[in-house]
Amino acid sequence: MRIILMGPPGVGKGTEAEYLSQHFQIPHISTGNMFRAMFDDPDNKIGQIAKAYIGRGELVPDDITNELVLERLSEADVEKGFLFDGYPRNINQAEALDQMLEQFDWRLDAVINIIAPDEMIVDRLAGRRVCKVCGKIYHVTNRKPKVEGVCDRDGGKLIQRTDDMEETVMRRLRIYNSQTAPVIGYYQHSDAFYAIDGTGTIKNTNNAVMKALGEDK
Ligand SMILES: [Zn+2]
Repeated sequence: MRIILMGPPGVGKGTEAEYLSQHFQIPHISTGNMFRAMFDDPDNKIGQIAKAYIGRGELVPDDITNELVLERLSEADVEKGFLFDGYPRNINQAEALDQMLEQFDWRLDAVINIIAPDEMIVDRLAGRRVCKVCGKIYHVTNRKPKVEGVCDRDGGKLIQRTDDMEETVMRRLRIYNSQTAPVIGYYQHSDAFYAIDGTGTIKNTNNAVMKALGEDK
């Protein structure tokens, strides 16, 4: 199963991605997470460049992102499928991905676009917390850890990412709407395109996605 998961930041994409990745046993490829994993290494040039962009609420240049993706698609675990989360973000990246898929002789099974209004997204993100160790996502009201501020999985400290702060979120939404939304136009006439309502609960969204993929039993 080869899936692209789309939608503005904070629409529940990360949670859905975790679920789909487990359900289909395919790697969850988040270019944002890949870049963040490089942040702590001062010798990692790509990581430090990406950190500067993401810290300002801006997008990493396409060439750097595409190269990272091509390297990832060359790894063995991607042969049975993949799920992209946060990629492609614009038409340039979508075209680059098409070339990569052609190179591997692969086709996309689903492009899933989860949608919700901007104001709902800002509310949701203000409460988002992320485990510093494993990257698992929590929310102060909607998805609480068993112990406040501590990851259930590994006891890691839960932090608010710089890019989840309100001002940064609003800037990210503006960038998303102007740059990423056209990607929807790129895919929406494909048979594999599904628009999913992301205004309800996580479970509502998940049910709608599974139904679209023909996986509801
Ligand atoms: Zn953790």
